[in-house]
Amino acid sequence: MPRFSRGLPLRTRVILWGLVSLFILAQIIAAWTLIWQGEVEVLLAAEKRVARFADTAEAALNRTLVDIYLVLNGTRDLLRPALTEGGQLNLDMAGDLLEGLDSRHLTISSLALYTPSGQLLAQSSGKDGKRELQLPEGFVESVLAKPYLQLVIYAPVVDAFDNERGMVAGKLVQLHNGQQVVLVSVTPLALLATITAQATDLAGLRATLELDTGQLLVSVPPNDAVTGRIRPWFGVGGASGKVQRGPDRMTGEDALVAVRPSLYQSVMVTASAPIEAALAPWQRSRLALLGVAGAFGVVTLLAGAMAHWHLSGLVRARQDLTRSQDTLAHALASMGDGFILCDADDKVVRWNERYLEFFPWLRSVMAVGVSFERLAAEAAAAMLPNGTVETRKIWARDRVATHRGADRVWEQELGNGVIVHAIESRTPEGGVVGVYRDVTAAERRLGDAKRAADAANEAKSQFLAAMSHEIRTPLNGVMGMNGLLMGTALTEEQRRYTELMRSSGQMLLAVINDILDVSKIEAGRMTLEIVPFDPSLAVREVTSLLAVRAQAKGLTLEVSISESVPPLLLGDPSRLRQVLFNLIGNALKFTEEGGVTIDVAARELDAARSELVVDVQDTGIGIPAEALGSIFDRFTQADSTTARRYGGSGLGLAISREIVHLMGGQIDARSLAGRGSAFHFSVPLGLALNMPLLTPQDMPQNTQTGANAAVQRRVLVAEDNAVNQILIEAILKRMGHFCDVVSNGIEAVRQAQAAHYDVVLMDMQMPEMDGLAATREIRRIESAQPGAGHLPIVAMTANAMAEDRAACFAAGMNDYVSKPIDVAELQAAIERACTAQTRSTT
Ligand code: ADP
Repeated sequence: MPRFSRGLPLRTRVILWGLVSLFILAQIIAAWTLIWQGEVEVLLAAEKRVARFADTAEAALNRTLVDIYLVLNGTRDLLRPALTEGGQLNLDMAGDLLEGLDSRHLTISSLALYTPSGQLLAQSSGKDGKRELQLPEGFVESVLAKPYLQLVIYAPVVDAFDNERGMVAGKLVQLHNGQQVVLVSVTPLALLATITAQATDLAGLRATLELDTGQLLVSVPPNDAVTGRIRPWFGVGGASGKVQRGPDRMTGEDALVAVRPSLYQSVMVTASAPIEAALAPWQRSRLALLGVAGAFGVVTLLAGAMAHWHLSGLVRARQDLTRSQDTLAHALASMGDGFILCDADDKVVRWNERYLEFFPWLRSVMAVGVSFERLAAEAAAAMLPNGTVETRKIWARDRVATHRGADRVWEQELGNGVIVHAIESRTPEGGVVGVYRDVTAAERRLGDAKRAADAANEAKSQFLAAMSHEIRTPLNGVMGMNGLLMGTALTEEQRRYTELMRSSGQMLLAVINDILDVSKIEAGRMTLEIVPFDPSLAVREVTSLLAVRAQAKGLTLEVSISESVPPLLLGDPSRLRQVLFNLIGNALKFTEEGGVTIDVAARELDAARSELVVDVQDTGIGIPAEALGSIFDRFTQADSTTARRYGGSGLGLAISREIVHLMGGQIDARSLAGRGSAFHFSVPLGLALNMPLLTPQDMPQNTQTGANAAVQRRVLVAEDNAVNQILIEAILKRMGHFCDVVSNGIEAVRQAQAAHYDVVLMDMQMPEMDGLAATREIRRIESAQPGAGHLPIVAMTANAMAEDRAACFAAGMNDYVSKPIDVAELQAAIERACTAQTRSTT
């Protein structure tokens, strides 16, 4: 048996899960691409925002710085009126002038004038000098270091007046009197904050104004704690003005940063969008996307698992199918019978090797899908090797018809002597399954058994026939002697005894006859004569014989023969008489009071046949219901006391039934115990149309019997039994004939040549040469000698059956008499033979 793994094959697994993995990978890539693209777009948008903001903030810062520059630059001319004649600067007036200027420019909260040594000369809001502006350290020096046109910006200081923080800008100015002064302005950081303020409107945007020294001027969101301080520099990679990835200016977070220097390199505006903040709104979309991708992945995995499960199921189912097919194939291969299965279209589906062994001629054509017609055609060619195309066609057609008919069992003899027992039956799908068994051996055994049984039966029949013959011969002697004894002078007592002897002998003879009949029936050798006869006469012959018995018992015996009974029928009158004799004999035997009625009628069956219907009713002891079913069986009597009380062998009805059945008729019985019985039988017989009936006139005359025979005959008797020799000799002598007796066939032939005889009485069974052989020999000699004449030969036989008679006539005999010899019958036969001889010779 092949071993089966119950799971998916490795290849299928690799393909399936490879596909699933690929699909999931594709989903991951798609999700990642989407996320990446989204991120890129979000960052691009943030970058644009940063750049836009940086642009506007830079412009605003430049405007403010230009304004400051212009104010400071215009101070030279502004202060001209404060110059005295002597070229001295009136400081008060200068303070006022600065005050006026300051109040006219929003960008500036304070203006102050210093000497190059850093001494305050005048200031816009602090003329009283009370609160002098605290200049950052080194500011004046750095202003002096710059050329006139340069503006120096420092930051931040606290404004002396309003205590606000401000950005300090300074410029070296040469007044009209030639004096060099340092002009300082303070711009409130709050004003600068307006430049970056719009960043607060843009979500996630941060901005700073700062000096290149790292000092923070303004920031969004504001952070006073670090304003003015030198902040840790995170390095933006140069102030190129482009938006770049880098640390946020305030927090150092990863951000998109743009650093824009103003007209005055030392002041810059920065804008930044921290990446995390910029991506924050995108985060949710990304989560959703990841969720969807994850869900897709899970679904893909589930689908893969489902496919795995389903495929495993399919593979298992296929393995199961393969296994059961293998099992079936094994079973078919190991079958001792041939097997073939066809579908509903008569196409071959399956077969086994044994089938092809039975029908080897199908080997070359056998295949799945081949039509049964094709097989039949092939078989026809093999079965009828010498057949014509037409006969083969007919054979094949019949075979196909048998096959289609199905539900049949038959036997077929194959050319090679094999006998096949075939059963073809329909399948529920409409196909046909055929099973073929070799029954050659069984057939042979059956045949042997039948032959053995037949032989045993034959032996039994022969034994019975031989025994009955053996019994008949001495009985013949006993009866004959008894007859002779009765012809002598006897006392009354002696006569009674001899009569008793005769009736006992007759009863014994009847039993022997019955046994002989039964053995013939069993051997299937009982045959019927078909001769024209008068049915009414046959009935009357029986009743007149039995009338004596009825009379002796004081019973009535009524016979009614319907007019419907035809005068002449074709059949076996002696067998019919036998049946009548049995039925009427039984009726008389089992009746003590009343009587027996016999009704005979006929019913026309067709133009050529008539049914003879006979009813025999009695008023006797009847038959118990439980025995009624078996009285027709052999050796069966209604009850165990019957034989003792009435005698009989229980064979009469069995023989009668066989005879009636042999004639094609029916017999049955009805009875009421204690009231009587009724036997009914009917037999179909041919109508003897236009056939002459043998009338007594046609028969040889035998009116003369006994000692007063008209003519004395010379009789040769061939008989081996000594008692019978004495008996026949005595009978013939009493008839007045002359006789010679020989004891076998050879002697008979010799004696027939040696002397002239009128007739030969030939026993059938004799030692050395039997009666038939002797007859044939006599006839052979007669035909060899022209003019030798024809010696009448009459058979004396204990075998009184039709075929025995036929054998006698076939051997060349002229007549026959049955043993035990009836004197009148013998006389008649002698006369018939001699008269016929006289007629033929004259
Ligand atoms: P036999 O008469 O020799 O015993 P049969 O075969 O003729 O054998 O009959 C079988 C049995 O059927 C008889 O023994 C008897 O019991 C019963 N039987 C036959 N005919 C009659 C009848 N007319 N009345 C009563 N019993 C009968």
